[in-house]
Amino acid sequence: MKNVLTQKLKTLPAPMAGFISQAGDLADEMGLRAYLVGGFVRDLLLGSGHFDIDLVVEGDGIRFAQECGRRLSLKVVAHGHFGTATLHGLEGFKADIASARKEIYEKPAALPCVSKGGIKDDLFRRDFTINAMAIGINRHCYGEIFDFYGGRRDLESKTIRAMHPLSFIDDPTRILRAVRFEKRFSFRLESRTLLWIRQALARRMLFCVQKHRLRDELILIFKERRPVPVLKRLWGLCGYSFISPGLVYREGWNAAHTRMQKAACWFAAHAAHKRSLDTYVMLMCLFFEGLALRRLKETMLAFAFRKGESRRVLSYRKDAAVLERRLAKQDLRPSEAYRLLEPLAYEVVVLVYALSAKKRVKDRIRDYLVVHHGTRLHVRGEDLAFLGFRPGPHFKKILMAILYAKVDGKLEGKNEELALAKKMMVRLSRCAPVCR
Ligand code: ATP
Repeated sequence: MKNVLTQKLKTLPAPMAGFISQAGDLADEMGLRAYLVGGFVRDLLLGSGHFDIDLVVEGDGIRFAQECGRRLSLKVVAHGHFGTATLHGLEGFKADIASARKEIYEKPAALPCVSKGGIKDDLFRRDFTINAMAIGINRHCYGEIFDFYGGRRDLESKTIRAMHPLSFIDDPTRILRAVRFEKRFSFRLESRTLLWIRQALARRMLFCVQKHRLRDELILIFKERRPVPVLKRLWGLCGYSFISPGLVYREGWNAAHTRMQKAACWFAAHAAHKRSLDTYVMLMCLFFEGLALRRLKETMLAFAFRKGESRRVLSYRKDAAVLERRLAKQDLRPSEAYRLLEPLAYEVVVLVYALSAKKRVKDRIRDYLVVHHGTRLHVRGEDLAFLGFRPGPHFKKILMAILYAKVDGKLEGKNEELALAKKMMVRLSRCAPVCR
């Protein structure tokens, strides 16, 4: 196995393989033992790529990280409280380094007491056997696997197995992790693990854990490549009342998610403003759509979702239905569609586009995203000043009026834009002094 893993390590992208071998040499020099751990090892054994590296050091992980940073000219961000550090500046990945530790949970669902430990302790504190393996990177054990808890056997039999019966009482967020990994890899929950989950659920442990920790796991679910089966499994196991009463699973989510992804690809290829969409936020919009607005606001606050996430989820909940109705009206000018769509986040606009069954709505959103939103004016603020306008808030008014006229196809070229500006100047100066 050692040879097989050494080979696998060699097949990693060169900067990653180079970093691992340099970190191993440094550990030798410093007289420390260092290991690759967690999802990195799991994915290496599965033969699938993993973006970031998790290293555990028996000894002072932060000192090791700082020395690594110094030697390799990398930025080190230390989290002293947790005994961990992150190395930034590596080519295409980052590396987290931690001191090997032992954890003892004194109270259910609370954060554990942490003390120094060896690699075996560090692996035992982990969530599932498949995530509790390590690979040595010191020269004498480079590529050697440390599998004390049967992780390889469980990977081969496609099994998610918790480390011990109290795992989900100690940390109920692992329930969400269990279903996430089960569905991501198409594994199955081992029968006793499932029983321990059910026991924790019967004790309402998901209601005891800090909400921001649940939020982080929910976000990871929303970010999965195939999140809907995970949400369905969670619904079947315990419903969503631990998030908010009133939330329900909807059979249509799978199809909606597919349409949403297709629309996001289309957007990336064709939109006038190139920007990648947060597709996980689009899924959040769908997930929370069924909640009454007041409850949705309370939930966003209680779970401390990020401002940008809550803003878009609330906007979709408030605006999507009205928007669709307005965009479906027969005699809507392109500039009116522009004004309806412009204040909204792209995620909200593209989601309405993806899910609307009305051709007219789709066409209008498409025109806005592909053509009208890319409209550029020839006239600028300086031109207005040159015409004799006194700079002020009316500049925006005039430029917007020119933009809307342009979107409606009523203006061609700079001269026509200037002509409209002059006309507006006359109109505006009847109400207030806008000229010098
Ligand atoms: P992903 O592929 O989703 O990133 P990962 O296994 O790398 O999966 P992380 O959340 O990055 O997941 O965590 C890294 C490692 O830390 C895990 O593999 C696991 O060993 C451990 N871990 C993470 N969260 C927990 C937890 N709640 N309880 C115990 N161990 C955990």
